[in-house]
Amino acid sequence: MQAARLMTLHAAWKMDTEGVAASLSEIAMIKFWGASVLYNVIDRAIQAHGSLGYTTDLPLEAMYRHARAARIYDGPDEVHKVTVARRILRDYRPADVPTEHVPTRREAARAKFGSLLDTYASNE
Ligand SMILES: Cc1cc2nc3c(=O)[nH]c(=O)nc-3n(C[C@H](O)[C@H](O)[C@H](O)COP(=O)(O)OP(=O)(O)OC[C@H]3O[C@@H](n4cnc5c(N)ncnc54)[C@H](O)[C@@H]3O)c2cc1C
Repeated sequence: MQAARLMTLHAAWKMDTEGVAASLSEIAMIKFWGASVLYNVIDRAIQAHGSLGYTTDLPLEAMYRHARAARIYDGPDEVHKVTVARRILRDYRPADVPTEHVPTRREAARAKFGSLLDTYASNE
């Protein structure tokens, strides 16, 4: 819940300071994260109340229906996740091998520092 509050405030702050166009990832993130937190919290509240929580004697069942719809009505969770993923990944370019590929890095390190290895790793 705290993460949802802070993400909402952060998205609002970014919209205020950098504009809506620069904040589309933050807006999409809070849409699926907030809806998920809402859903999970109400689900747990129903569980804590047992069968009473599932009846219309408490407001929880109505909250539950609304919370379930929140994962759909402003665009399904999946669509917001795709938006976030696309916006994050567009700043990256594919490489032949992952940049952290150890054999490739070892080869590059040997090319750069190989002469030092010969000097300092000898037993003389
Ligand atoms: C209670 C409620 C109130 C609503 N109020 C409004 C309103 O006021 N104004 C309005 O315009 N609309 C409203 N809607 C409609 C709402 O915007 C759409 O239901 C929503 O955009 C999803 O479209 P859809 O139902 O056609 O589902 P579809 O687009 O058919 O999606 C069905 C499922 O397919 C999956 N899916 C869809 N697209 C993707 C994707 N790109 N990647 C991966 N998976 C995907 C998801 O699991 C999704 O739940 C409301 C809906 C509800 C339930």
